[in-house]
Amino acid sequence: MQRIDVELEHSYSVFVAKDLQAKIVSDLALYKSKKVMILSDSNVAPLYIDDLIASLESMGINTYHHVIRSGDESKSFVVLETLISSLKKARFNRSDIIVTLGGGVVGDIGGFAAGIYMRGIDYYQIPTSLLAMVDASVGGKTAINFSDSKNMIGLFKQPKAVYCNLNYLKTLPEREFNSGLGEVIKYAILFDRELFDKLEKKLTVDSSELEEIVSRSIYHKAKIVVNDQFDNGERKLLNFGHTIAHAIETLSEYKIPHGEAVAIGMAMISKALMITDELERSEYEKIINLMQINKLPFKTEYSPEELFNCCLSDKKMLDNRIDEILIEKIGKSFIRSISLEQLERYILLASV
Ligand code: NAD
Repeated sequence: MQRIDVELEHSYSVFVAKDLQAKIVSDLALYKSKKVMILSDSNVAPLYIDDLIASLESMGINTYHHVIRSGDESKSFVVLETLISSLKKARFNRSDIIVTLGGGVVGDIGGFAAGIYMRGIDYYQIPTSLLAMVDASVGGKTAINFSDSKNMIGLFKQPKAVYCNLNYLKTLPEREFNSGLGEVIKYAILFDRELFDKLEKKLTVDSSELEEIVSRSIYHKAKIVVNDQFDNGERKLLNFGHTIAHAIETLSEYKIPHGEAVAIGMAMISKALMITDELERSEYEKIINLMQINKLPFKTEYSPEELFNCCLSDKKMLDNRIDEILIEKIGKSFIRSISLEQLERYILLASV
């Protein structure tokens, strides 16, 4: 088992192993409350919730559950209200807890509910998708969508602990697994050349290196979060590829998964940097090769005009400038404030 500590004012640990069920149950049994609300979704619950409930109840923990429809549409006020109603109906109070069992959607909405119910109750995360393990479950960002704006309503609320049970990944659809790999590749390009080299052999659920690679990704996320909990500085590095990715997600009406859109965004920015002689061609080629090995896209059908117009409504835009994440080489990244004209130029160059 690997353990990564996220050292904030309320520190917590992220555990990574093939099977953590026994640990989850014994940790929760030690918690002051004996009432747990498991939040899950319609794909994950039928696979794993009964087993978890049975184990918790066998330890005398009073367990409730609330299952939401899978998909990003569930990150809404309406669904949040149904969860809050379930908590109230079961008479949850501030010493009771929420446990999220699912992907980033379940984690985001469960964390948000934990942040606002009775001015805040504790929650534990059991992420079941690769993206949720290496990214969404660590760092305390919680949110729901509002109208057509992604993650517009939310707050920072750190979990009490995170349990990455790798065996859950065996049922994750391949496209979702590869999408999560997009985030792993992002950490590698930003911070960790050795991790990048390891990924040159296709990672699968059965790879012997899975535990190490997931832990290493979480380590990078945790380090950034500790240095910049509220996303005012260094944490922006994690937005590598995201300006173009958000445009692609919006244009595709979210049919292209986040990880795939990020992969395209990272590849396009890298291409623009290669053309402007800011990145060596061989480094760019290695990045594209890695995308191909991991069955990730690296270009888009959308025109540079469509992409740029969409970037104009990016919430990170300030006074017609945007903090763009760039790389000098694989493993070395930095933030540069660029003008709209420069962004347009990069998008044009990357689209040729
Ligand atoms: P998701 O929760 O929709 O999960 C993807 C799909 O996989 C869903 O259909 C889900 O039901 C299914 N699934 C999950 N685990 C499974 C398993 N073990 N077996 C079978 N099916 C399984 O999406 P995601 O990719 O996990 O996360 C994306 C969400 O996370 C977005 O809403 C995004 O905004 C959010 N996010 C949040 C943060 C953060 O810091 N809070 C960071 C990145 C992304």
